[in-house]
Amino acid sequence: MKTLVTVLMMVVLAACSTQKESKETTNGYVIVLLGAPGSGKGTQAVDLSTKLAVPHISTGDLFRYHKSNGTPLGKKASEYFDKGLLVPDSLVMEVVAARVAEPDAQGGYILDGFPRTLEQAKELEKTVIGNKKLLVVNLDVPDADIVKRLAGRGRADDTPEVVEKRLQVYHSQTAPLIDFYRKKGVLIEIDGSQPKEKVFVDIVGALNSQGIRSKS
Ligand code: AMP
Repeated sequence: MKTLVTVLMMVVLAACSTQKESKETTNGYVIVLLGAPGSGKGTQAVDLSTKLAVPHISTGDLFRYHKSNGTPLGKKASEYFDKGLLVPDSLVMEVVAARVAEPDAQGGYILDGFPRTLEQAKELEKTVIGNKKLLVVNLDVPDADIVKRLAGRGRADDTPEVVEKRLQVYHSQTAPLIDFYRKKGVLIEIDGSQPKEKVFVDIVGALNSQGIRSKS
């Protein structure tokens, strides 16, 4: 009887420590997906979110939500959003701060479309991530492929003029983040021009080697 109790206790303790380990390896991370509009960030972020069981936070989706609900923030953001321009950092930080404060984001999350400027990147580390570990995945896709992909996407904010503007904005304001994060040693570079299934396998493999294990 005594032996049985001891064995049971050992099984319970082992189960607890495995659970704790998986929490520590997946939940303490903020994963940023970086890449041009149309690089596949959104698709990969959705799949990663399912695999790692952490929420996917897309600032573009948050602005679209505010716009379609006619909130004051949505109205202010639309002035920029509709022209393919970046929404001012103060409004962006407002939506991000509100979203990461929600209960489901407390164990970590995937950021898609944020940060997009050096200012936002600095704010992210200063006021948003707390003591979570930051990892940045850059999806590298040549411009020619991006233009083709965006032309086929058919989203309301994907008219040719807006697409061109968004690409210009990406190169001038967001692409410098690649170097910023490379210098910090947190950048994972992925060939985003491959088929999306292969891109996903590469991302998961790279995250695994950083200690981030999937839950499924
Ligand atoms: P997305 O769906 O990520 O391509 O974002 C759509 C639009 O939302 C962008 O063209 C910007 O106008 C705005 N937006 C989304 N995220 C940000 C951000 N981090 N900073 C500034 N503007 C943003």
